[in-house]
Amino acid sequence: MPDHPRDSRAVDLLVIGGGIFGAGVAREAALLGNRVALLEKGDLAQGTSSQSTKLLHGGLRYLEHGQFSLVRESLRERAVQAELAPHLASPLPFLVPLGEGSRLRPWKLKLGLWLYDWLAGRPAGFRPGFLSPEELASAAPALVQTGSRGAGRYFDWQTYDSRLVVECALQAAQHGAQVAPRTEVVDIQGGPPDLFRVRAQTTGARGTEVQEWTARCIVATTGPWTDRFRSRTWPEAAPRSRLTSGVHIVVPKIDPKQAWLITAPSDGRVFFVIPFFGQTLIGTTDRDFEGDPDRAQVESADVAYLLSATNAYLQDRRLTESDVISSFIGLRALVRSGKGHPSHASREKCIFESPAGVWHIVGGKLTTWRLIAHAILRRAAAGGGLRVDDGERSRRTPLPGGCFGLSSDRGLAARELARHGRLEMEVATHLECRYGSRAAEVAEIARDHPQLGTPLLPGWLETPAEMLYTRRFEFAETLEDFLRRRTPLALTTKISAAERSRLERIWAELRV
Ligand SMILES: Cc1cc2nc3c(=O)[nH]c(=O)nc-3n(C[C@H](O)[C@H](O)[C@H](O)COP(=O)(O)OP(=O)(O)OC[C@H]3O[C@@H](n4cnc5c(N)ncnc54)[C@H](O)[C@@H]3O)c2cc1C
Repeated sequence: MPDHPRDSRAVDLLVIGGGIFGAGVAREAALLGNRVALLEKGDLAQGTSSQSTKLLHGGLRYLEHGQFSLVRESLRERAVQAELAPHLASPLPFLVPLGEGSRLRPWKLKLGLWLYDWLAGRPAGFRPGFLSPEELASAAPALVQTGSRGAGRYFDWQTYDSRLVVECALQAAQHGAQVAPRTEVVDIQGGPPDLFRVRAQTTGARGTEVQEWTARCIVATTGPWTDRFRSRTWPEAAPRSRLTSGVHIVVPKIDPKQAWLITAPSDGRVFFVIPFFGQTLIGTTDRDFEGDPDRAQVESADVAYLLSATNAYLQDRRLTESDVISSFIGLRALVRSGKGHPSHASREKCIFESPAGVWHIVGGKLTTWRLIAHAILRRAAAGGGLRVDDGERSRRTPLPGGCFGLSSDRGLAARELARHGRLEMEVATHLECRYGSRAAEVAEIARDHPQLGTPLLPGWLETPAEMLYTRRFEFAETLEDFLRRRTPLALTTKISAAERSRLERIWAELRV
């Protein structure tokens, strides 16, 4: 390969798209000592990677479609995530109720749960089981009991998708990668055997700047934008993805102890009702999507569908539109293969190279981001002279907030933080859950600047100190970045216009 000019915009690997796969590739490549840049047109995780169901899971329902290897791989990777970032991977029990009209037979569910557990390697402490109707009534009083035949119970892990992305990008930066949010790649020229020449446009508080980059190798992890991106750069490129949309809504607390995996009576699709920062996350829908991914919008029919499907399972309550605190839409870029219902389309990944030598991915899951990042890097490295390994470095390096040393006792970590930082236990737990082993750094800001320690919104523990921390150390540039992707506030609470302008003012006055 030709050599680079030695300037900071000359890299071994240019990664386009700061979702989980892009941040994962940048992390792994940087951990191995490659010169890396990660360019993202908006905020990190602004695309699908902040709009997921936020589960690290194998996907119980994929067993019905015979996707055993995908389920096994995801379940094994779930355990790795819990080691790399224990603060971003919390085990959560799931109920699968068998009620009136349920299409599942108890034996089939029991077999499915057994298989799921077996594929996961039978993790101790998280074994599946079956609840009788009486046991179910006392375990989940909010769930409708008429005609109940009990419920299956199993475990999956809950994560925080956008923070996973931020931590990957942060780790890449800690290992020398240039991480550039709000930088859109607009043109690519050259390519093997020469260097790629890339034009990107940065938009920020100080206006617009055009940047020229050179790279030996390019990986474009542009998610739902993949076909558009390819057709802009190579007009003859055939579409490779099928886009489907998934809508979630957030409503007040339903069942704080466990999630439900239930079936919509109207069309037999499964969806989740999940505890979510004191509220409840319900989703998802699954419909084909045509059009511009930047303009995807939640439609009232999707919200009505989720409300009505959930109401069919509520014992003494009826949700209406006024209960909806927030809603969001995400787009899956699935491998294009025939028609059929979107829910039955495979979630397998497909990594491919464009004629000009740029690497892309469609399909895949948040859960397996590390495996996918490794697979992309290996494929891209073959022609690009990048350093790669067998995946051990990325497997063994905890994310920045996952450095708990030998102790895996997170309760202990929170207690230590409360003691050393003289914090209330509730605040220490909140910081530890969000920032993991970096929580003390946030607490330190609050201690050094007591005026930044007052909660931003009534009933919530987030403070201006967190704002400052995410701006200084987590690439947050706008209030929206903070409210939507560094914290869940925009999802979990209705923020009034007056509160929003107060938050805008606090954000603007922070001395970064
Ligand atoms: C509704 C829904 C629920 C899901 N739930 C789960 C789940 O619970 N568990 C699970 O494992 N998986 C889940 N998934 C799948 C998972 O979320 C995705 O596989 C994953 O987030 C895809 O990440 P990505 O990096 O490919 O895409 P994205 O996160 O969309 O990232 C692509 C990025 O590229 C950027 N970009 C595009 N064009 C350019 C350009 N020209 N220059 C610079 N940047 C550009 C975009 O701004 C975007 O940020 C879900 C998906 C959906 C849609």
